Amino acid sequence: LRQVDFSTEPQCSVRKHIMRNAMSKQILILPGDGIGPEIMAEGVKVLNVANDKFGLGYELSFDDLGGAAYDRYGSPLADETLERARAADAVLLGAVGGPKWDTIDPALRPERGLLKIRSELGLFGNLRPAILYPQLAEASTLKPEVVSGLDILIVRELTGGIYFGTPRERTTLESGERMAYDTLPYSESEVRRIAKVGFDMAMVRNKKLCSVDKANVLASSQLWREVVEEVAKDYPDVELSHMYVDNAAMQLVRAPKQFDVIVTDNMFGDILSDQASMLTGSIGMLPSASLDVNSKGMYEPCHGSAPDIAGQGIANPLATILSVSMMLRYSFAQVAAADAIEQAVSQVLDQGLRTGDIQSEGCRKVGTAEMGDAVVAALKNL
Ligand code: NAD
Repeated sequence: LRQVDFSTEPQCSVRKHIMRNAMSKQILILPGDGIGPEIMAEGVKVLNVANDKFGLGYELSFDDLGGAAYDRYGSPLADETLERARAADAVLLGAVGGPKWDTIDPALRPERGLLKIRSELGLFGNLRPAILYPQLAEASTLKPEVVSGLDILIVRELTGGIYFGTPRERTTLESGERMAYDTLPYSESEVRRIAKVGFDMAMVRNKKLCSVDKANVLASSQLWREVVEEVAKDYPDVELSHMYVDNAAMQLVRAPKQFDVIVTDNMFGDILSDQASMLTGSIGMLPSASLDVNSKGMYEPCHGSAPDIAGQGIANPLATILSVSMMLRYSFAQVAAADAIEQAVSQVLDQGLRTGDIQSEGCRKVGTAEMGDAVVAALKNL
């Protein structure tokens, strides 16, 4: 396995390198900020083992995104990094952001780099599974009988809606009062393509799809509901329901197992998927995939850069490791390798190893690297 550090390779040799290896799959790794590099080190360990064990032949290369990129390139997403991301077959990302960059020009903040790479790569379909490993039922704040066996998938629209809508402005009224506004636009084609992802996912799961909107108030949601109904005609086997987002938030904590696949817009999906993450005990367990129309994807844990625990070697690397598994499944169709990684994670939990965020009585507390090593050992032994 050859790992390329782009920081030491001139641009032209990067292109040659990519052309030379046109047959092998290229994976761009962006560790990011805060705990990003710590959790990514474990993700890469597991990917390397899967690469060898299943003869996948992937080539990894590394670059910066977010605050680290701002420090190195003066931009949270350098043009050359974007070019490398476009050339890669998949991108694996840690997390971005941190207090060090909180006071810089808002246009250059780490999170802007993340939004830009998602939109430039056309990654409109965000898959966020919330699966409760039975070993972690006690780690959830909800009663075990409410969450045990939970396995839901939130499909979030990622490149449209209020996070990208213009005009957006902060201004001062004639009266001297400050005011600000955002715009929540959705076109028919944007809704149609994410609805299709929702129905496709429902077809390979339990054929139940709940579309979440706020159609009683928002014009964009009324269009959303109309288009979802139209797409439903192509999926007669899927049982479709609609729910207002406020009710969905309530139902997610009241009876989360009623859901199988949820499809929703960018902002609602952002909030509901964080809420769903807590049903499973910790956001440190949740991977995500962001896909374009050709299933090229960027894979990342659902959590952020956790500045409060960065540098301490205590972050949970399992969300990143499970993101590797999602990458193998959704971008490369390597089902056996993806299954093996998930099995290895489950075995390590069976062994009673826990990072601090999922710690419970009678289990052994381990750090980031020890958790990664345990998954590697389990994967090698499968
Ligand atoms: P966060 O997800 O970073 O942290 C929330 C809480 O969860 C913290 O207490 C943290 O310690 C804990 N946590 C998160 N990941 C963990 C892990 N793997 N193991 C153990 N505990 C974990 O969210 P935040 O505090 O709201 O944001 C911190 C920074 O991350 C901000 O700069 C924010 O903009 C950024 N952020 C980035 C992303 C991303 O890169 N995709 C997503 C969300 C937030």
